[in-house]
Amino acid sequence: MATVIAVANQKGGVGKTTTAINLAAALAQRKKRTLLMDLDPQANSTLTFFNPDEITQSMYDVLVDHKVAISEVVKPTRWANLCVVPSKIALAKLEAQLVGQFDGPFRLKDALAPLKKEFDLIVIDTPPALGIITVNALVAASFLIIPIQASFYALEGTDDLLETLERIRARPNPELQLLGVLITLYDKRTNLARDIYRQVRQVFGDKVFKTVIGKNVRLEESPAYKETIFSFAPDSSGALEYANLAKEVLQRVS
Ligand code: ADP
Ligand code: MG
Repeated sequence: MATVIAVANQKGGVGKTTTAINLAAALAQRKKRTLLMDLDPQANSTLTFFNPDEITQSMYDVLVDHKVAISEVVKPTRWANLCVVPSKIALAKLEAQLVGQFDGPFRLKDALAPLKKEFDLIVIDTPPALGIITVNALVAASFLIIPIQASFYALEGTDDLLETLERIRARPNPELQLLGVLITLYDKRTNLARDIYRQVRQVFGDKVFKTVIGKNVRLEESPAYKETIFSFAPDSSGALEYANLAKEVLQRVS
């Protein structure tokens, strides 16, 4: 049965999408049957693999209209073991459609059930908000990864995210665990980055992944060429770091 991992932080630009894409790619390289699910209406993960005209259906059609089966929105990629459920801007309407529905927070969990036998891991990329889309991801997941950008405001907002985690654990999904906190965009040349690393360690202790994702221009460039870091720059520090993250993730989920 698939292990479902949500990558979430309501702040934008902290490396959620970069992490979802490259963690999924690294898991696929390790021969795990991996599904990357894009739940951000901005569709940045999706556009790393497909052109907009290749995307006809998205989770919106599965979660709102129930007209489309989830298996119909799973798209293979050109990489072995890696499939993607694409997003479209239509997902932005999901919030309005699901708020107030009694089963609103559970739609994704219910929809995912038939896929759980087909994949070893499902990695969910979420939007920069704590709305009902992210809540659906956290209700469907067993594990949460929180990327934190090593910058001055690194820890701002994490209280709200942790409160959401506790509320979801209290009721709809007691199984949910914080898998780890991932420090991203780390610039090892600056004292500030080192200070922030220490601060994050003080707050989260062992939950902080040993792997730290440094600033690496290759990670920024690869989506524009429709590549993951492993095909675009296999010898880059970014490729090494995401491969190490995948190892740590597999140790922690087993
Ligand atoms: P989020 O999904 O949290 O909004 P992204 O993964 O889209 O964050 O990252 C924000 C921006 O920073 C993107 O332009 C991305 O390419 C870039 N980026 C992310 N991680 C790194 C990194 N380790 N080094 C350099 N650029 C990065
Ligand atoms: Mg994103």
